[in-house]
Amino acid sequence: MIDLHTHTFFSDGVLIPSELVCRALAQGYKTICISDHVDFSNMDITIPRLAKVAKILTREYKIKVIPGAELTYIPPRLMPQALRLARSLGAQIVLVHGETVVEPVPKGTNRAAIEAKVDILAHPGMITKDEVKLARANKVHLEITTRRGHNKTNKHVASLAHIYGAKLVFNTDTHEPEDLMTEASIKKILDLAHLTQKDFNDMQENANNLVAGKDL
Ligand SMILES: [Zn+2]
Ligand SMILES: [Zn+2]
Repeated sequence: MIDLHTHTFFSDGVLIPSELVCRALAQGYKTICISDHVDFSNMDITIPRLAKVAKILTREYKIKVIPGAELTYIPPRLMPQALRLARSLGAQIVLVHGETVVEPVPKGTNRAAIEAKVDILAHPGMITKDEVKLARANKVHLEITTRRGHNKTNKHVASLAHIYGAKLVFNTDTHEPEDLMTEASIKKILDLAHLTQKDFNDMQENANNLVAGKDL
């Protein structure tokens, strides 16, 4: 299993990175990206520390740990600048906290993320057809999420992605240990989004290819 969206107590998750990684390993994960919430206040504190421990944990255990970041509530105009900074500090996968329907994320965040060419637009809510087309052109992956609230629009995101050919990834947005993927949680989310086991396998392959393309 590969999951490119998780949190630790470097933001609002409850676990230290080492425990998150050991719990993921015990649950059968092969690859995990730690993508704590960042903005201009904490990128320099968070990302280099995640990069440091990711290297150590990947060396010690049979799991690939990727240092990432979730750009969160960035003013849309500043998205390219935030992305550059996150990458320069060592974030190998950069997500943007998209326009979920359950939070007042700034309008224009989805488009700004896609135009900036981030790796993954997380929980994109009621993303538009034109944005999905642009995501395909810019090779931005759209997220299907198990996270409650954010997962309300999975079916919308999946159907537009299928029509317009944008790539999907399946992430948990784990904040607590019980959020990590299990057979049961995967099945539940697939059913609600009208997705199949084959779609899940394709999403996992997309995530693997995204990571492989980074040549970590
Ligand atoms: Zn988020
Ligand atoms: Zn998140």
